Amino acid sequence: MTSTNIQYTTTTTSTTSTTDIITPLERVGAHSHIHGLGLNDLLEALPENESNLVGQPTARRAMGLVFKMIQQGQLGGRAVLLAGPPSTGKTALAMGLSQEIGEAVPFVHLSASQVFSRDLSKTEALTQAVRRAMGIQIVEETEVLEGEVVEIQIDSFAGDNKGKKAGKLTLCTTDMETIYDLGHKMLEMLRTEQISAGDVIRIDKGTGQIRKLGRSFTRSRDYDAVSSTTKFVPTPEGEIQKRQTITHMVSLHEIDVINSRQQGFLALFAGDTGEIRQEIRDQIDVKVAEWKEEGRATLVPGVLFLDEVHMLDMECFSFLNRALESEWAPFVVMATNRGLSKIRGTDYISAHGIPVDLLDRLMIISTQPYSVDELRQILQVRCTEEQVEMTPTALELLTRIASETALRYAMHLITMSQLQAERKKRSIVELEDVELCYQLYYDVKRSTKLLMEYQNQFLFNELSVEQEEEA
Ligand code: ATP
Repeated sequence: MTSTNIQYTTTTTSTTSTTDIITPLERVGAHSHIHGLGLNDLLEALPENESNLVGQPTARRAMGLVFKMIQQGQLGGRAVLLAGPPSTGKTALAMGLSQEIGEAVPFVHLSASQVFSRDLSKTEALTQAVRRAMGIQIVEETEVLEGEVVEIQIDSFAGDNKGKKAGKLTLCTTDMETIYDLGHKMLEMLRTEQISAGDVIRIDKGTGQIRKLGRSFTRSRDYDAVSSTTKFVPTPEGEIQKRQTITHMVSLHEIDVINSRQQGFLALFAGDTGEIRQEIRDQIDVKVAEWKEEGRATLVPGVLFLDEVHMLDMECFSFLNRALESEWAPFVVMATNRGLSKIRGTDYISAHGIPVDLLDRLMIISTQPYSVDELRQILQVRCTEEQVEMTPTALELLTRIASETALRYAMHLITMSQLQAERKKRSIVELEDVELCYQLYYDVKRSTKLLMEYQNQFLFNELSVEQEEEA
């Protein structure tokens, strides 16, 4: 590969107008109820808010400042650590931040345990995550159409997140000839009023036939990896004219993959990109720097969210230390629920299991355990999210369970209790449903107690006699 032929879209190899539709998945995820940070203009946490984030006013405010920093592009080498006991909303806060920054800025979520895989070295996995969090907006001067008011969104899929949320998308080519043909067809359809301005359309693979899908256009971050928008602007006569400008939003990692000879762009679809040679990355960095100089590209540093950061080892931590010094570093948000603990793979004990030299670089945001009222509010929000109706007494019991065991456990009981209520042909969850599920499914505390009582009957009991007596 020479540095002059660096590609940033898959389109130079694509000659046909491949189309696809991803069915939107109505999936209720662990954090799907979170819609933002719930702050006012002064970045104060609103008690009642549409974002559904409950409590944690200080941490939310601190995350609000992070959001402002990201908005203003003051990113280089910054990192925060969300530290607090389990289930105190660290991931929820990161998800809230991701919702606030929207789709224009890349947001990459990586659980530290994902760094340890058989296929990639640890530093390669981290490098890929860092580069996925670095967006590049490329403006390309090229021949496109101007006709009437229709937008075609041209995307390709980022394989890593395939199967998650869906966008209603469309076309895997920026091949100008194809776009030109389609433009003609579309104009004809506009004239005959088969489609109108703002419609989302589908173009069938084989036939090239255009079909109207609807008017709402949902785009997901997961799928807008390589995207460009061709706008058909009305002219008085509705004639097709040739005009310039396509913007592509890609991540550095995607440019790496597309230009990696071994992998090729198909790896983007499979999500299996393998190791990428440093030489390729160096060439891409040089090229992107050139594009930047020429005003053809803008660097959009995004956010890398590293959950369970205490799972990383020394090598990873020193990699992160170096990465944060780079001019092209994303904003890194880390999260941990560990207190003083051993740094993985060593005998050194450090706060949060993170080496002191990295800790020194971090601004730490602390999350606090929830009050009973806050727990009740969160559980209520989850019931609404899961479309579960519950009697006040059932919710009260669930709240008590959350405060005495764990919030996550209580959340799981919502779904199970609903199933139980359905079995009894009831649409509302009652006290007895929650009670039964509490008996059927153990939380960690009860399970540990049981272990202590009956450990001799389990296989591979590793406690010594003294420890058993102590227990
Ligand atoms: P861990 O340390 O175990 O990873 P965590 O601090 O990251 O835990 P979360 O995963 O964010 O905790 O929270 C557990 C569940 O509770 C999630 O479903 C999350 O969305 C929800 N939750 C936590 N805090 C809040 C909150 N303040 N408002 C709304 N939902 C919350």
